[in-house]
Amino acid sequence: MPPSKRCAEWLDRISLYLDGELAEQLCRELEQHLAECPDCHVVFNTTRRTIELYRRYGRVSMPEGARERLFRVLNLEDLLRDESGAK
Ligand SMILES: [Zn+2]
Repeated sequence: MPPSKRCAEWLDRISLYLDGELAEQLCRELEQHLAECPDCHVVFNTTRRTIELYRRYGRVSMPEGARERLFRVLNLEDLLRDESGAK
């Protein structure tokens, strides 16, 4: 399995983690991965900051296209396509 696919799995879980909805064991594994993976760490920090702003001000969203840019940088466009296809 290529590294980007493994990252994609963790990126899916970052929002769950930040919502406190990720199982304890997976939290530990995610934290471990973030410590080792600068790419995911950037996404994690960006997502966390966005959620914090959202909670504080109620209506702050990620800049248009920012999420797509992030995913493209991480070579995770396949994931984006999967998501849009599933919804
Ligand atoms: Zn990663």
